This record gives sequence, C-alpha cells and structure tokens, in this order.
Amino acid sequence: MKKTPFLTLEKAREITAQIPTPFHLYDEAGIRANARALKEAFSWNKGFREFFAVKATPNPYIVKLLHEEGCGCDCATYTELVLAEAVGVTGHDVMFSSNVTPEKDMRKAREMGVYINLDDATYVDFLAGMGDVPETVCLRYNPGGSFSLGNTIMDMPRDAKYGMTEDQMAGAINRLMKLGTKHFGIHAFLASNTTTNEYYPELAAQLFRLAVRLRNATGCHISFVNLSGGIGVDYRPEQPKCDIKVIGEGVRQRYEQILTPQGMDDVAIFTELGRFMLAPYGHLISTVLHQKHIYREYVGLDACAADLMRPAMYGAYHHITVLGKEDAILDHVYDVTGGLCENNDKFAIERSLPEIDIGDIVAIHDTGAHGHSMGYNYNGKLRSAEVLLKEDGSFQLIRRAETVQDYFATFDFTDFKFQY
Ligand SMILES: *Cc1c(COP(=O)(O)O)cnc(C)c1O
Repeated sequence: MKKTPFLTLEKAREITAQIPTPFHLYDEAGIRANARALKEAFSWNKGFREFFAVKATPNPYIVKLLHEEGCGCDCATYTELVLAEAVGVTGHDVMFSSNVTPEKDMRKAREMGVYINLDDATYVDFLAGMGDVPETVCLRYNPGGSFSLGNTIMDMPRDAKYGMTEDQMAGAINRLMKLGTKHFGIHAFLASNTTTNEYYPELAAQLFRLAVRLRNATGCHISFVNLSGGIGVDYRPEQPKCDIKVIGEGVRQRYEQILTPQGMDDVAIFTELGRFMLAPYGHLISTVLHQKHIYREYVGLDACAADLMRPAMYGAYHHITVLGKEDAILDHVYDVTGGLCENNDKFAIERSLPEIDIGDIVAIHDTGAHGHSMGYNYNGKLRSAEVLLKEDGSFQLIRRAETVQDYFATFDFTDFKFQY
C-alpha cells in the first residue's frame, strides 16, 4: 500500500518556521485512534489492559496521552519508573518487566506498588529479601526451542536471555504462595515486529495452555496472561499490515477453546505493545543540506543515525517521502545519508525517489517507536527535538533539542579553566 505522510509540506513549513529540523513529529489523532482500536479489539475481555512499552517513546506527553486512552506503562528500569510516576501513572497502572534487575530498581518498583514481572526464579528470594512479597506476581516464561507459525520459524527462544522454564515457574509459584502471593500472571515475548495476525493468537494459545498446566500443578490462581509486545508495523509499502480486530478475535477464540472450559474465564489479557502503539504515528522531519555526485548519487540530511539508529543498526527499511513531491515520479536513485563519520549512516541505500533539491523537507516514516529513544551522541551529534501534532492541527514542542551545554553537562571542566 502507498505510504502517505500525516502532514503536508505546508504544515511542515509552518512548524519549521518555529522549530528547526531535524525533529521527530508525533500524530496525536493517529495515536488515539489506534489505541481505541486496540481497546475495541479486546473489549470481549473484561480485564484487558495495554501497558505501553515506555522504552519505545519515553516522553511524558506521549505517556499521558496514552494514559488518557486507558493505557498503563510497561517499564524496565528505575528511570522509566520515575517517568511513569511523573505522569501520575503508578500502582497497578504499571508493569515492571525488567531483567538483570538492580536492587535500586526493584525497590522503586516495590515502593510504587506496580505489577512485578520476574525474569527468573532466583528473583523470588531477591523479592522476599525486600520484605513482604506482593499479592500478585507475574512470571516470565521461556519455552526454549524455536517459535514457529506454520512452517516459518519466527524466533529462537532457546537463544534468548529472558524468562524461565516451566519447571522453574512452578517452583517459583509454590515458593511465592508459601510467602503469601495470591495471584499470578504469566508473560512471554517470543517474536518481535511480527506482521502476521497469527502471532498473538499462537502465543496466547501457548500461554493459555501453560496457565492451565501451572494451575493444575500448583493450585495457584492465574489472574492475567501478559502477551507482551511484538505486534509489528508495515515499514515497507508492500508489507502486509496487522489487523488488530482479527488479532483480538484470534486471541478470543483460543481463550474460549482453552481457558473457558477449564473454568478460567476470569483471566485478564494484558499487552505491552510499543512499536504497534507509536511507530506509524511518528515521522523524522529533516531538511536536505547537500547533494553529491560520485559513484552514486548522495543526498545529505540534517538528521543522522543519532536521531534514528534502526537503518544503521539493523539495516531496517524506513520509507521516505519528499514533502510536496508526493505524486512526482520516482525516477532518481539516491543514497540518503546523515553526517556521522560512519558509512552505515544511511537512511536509504539506492532508493528510488523523486528528483531532490537542496532545501527539500523529507518525512522519514514510522519513527514513532524506537526512534528518538534509541538516539545517541556519537560524533557530538545532539539529540533532536520532539514535537506533537495535535488533533486540531496545532503543534507543541514536547522535548527541546539538546544543546552543547547538555552534551558537556556531565564533565567537570574546572581543571581546564573552561566554561561553555
Ligand atoms: C521491548 C518490549 C516490549 C515492546 O515491544 P514492541 O516490539 O515495541 O511491541 C514489551 N515488553 C517487553 C518486556 C519489552 O522488552
């Protein structure tokens, strides 16, 4: 399907007149509509809840907007917990799915009274060492082997550092019940960025069967199944797009086949989506600074891999629209690059695009999740601003761009008689 940006050149000019490029722009209307569609798709389940994976877009304005749509937060670190707390998202509005967890982080999670998702059975003692165990505890599962849909291997859980074995889960549940835990959740994240409607239903079926076995083995009460993240987006125009309604319906069928006959129809479905919630509703907006003609045609942007790491890191495809040239023929082939001293700093390689001029504004698509948040400061590049395009067409700076002062803030220059 043709990918169209959520803003026009005219709107981009209006914003760039006040906020210089590059910046990540988020589409409030799109974010809200998608969050509502997710809620609707799982409305058959009374306890359904999405805990937005904060790492995807750790901005308090985005977290607040999603909280208004009924979403909680999935946090993995002390800092992410503090971010959620700052927005007023705490207690059972937060899922703490961490691994290799420092004591400080676990204490903060206990203090906030959030749901704790244990990555390993050894964490039961870690938890018990901090006082009373919580009334509800979630356990992260790793089935080992490979995870397949039909004949396609999606991922290799046996190579993943996360979660625990089924026997370890049963042992942890028995110990926790003795210590006073009354309710349990189970969680697994077995494949990332899936674009098939079958991932969640298959994962749900595996977790529902596990829930039945664990209940039978230990007599515990399973109060929720956490399907975690993993629903992907169509980064490429020719890719299929997930249909959240079909996914919700697929999970409902497995629920009624597996849990309902076991009398387990009070189990709530939780999700921790990040990419699906935000990726399509973010664009990296950037201006063309230079062009060069050597063995290939190059277009140099004012954004670089420090603003969006995915292409450099994973060779990920991000669609690019030259604003104002949406309907022009794609009769030029360019490498679209940033200015890092790294040859992998390319947003696109040999991409067919319309003829580009210096000063053109481009929208790099699907940067709303794992975009700004994966930014870094290599080469002294400063992280870009974040801007929210509101439903009424107005816009708001929700994070300013970094300055040189920010970059130097962690140095003590006293020995150098220097102040920036
Ligand atoms: C990263 C992560 C998510 C979100 O994953 P997406 O692919 O962005 O949906 C959810 N849960 C956990 C534990 C994660 O690490």
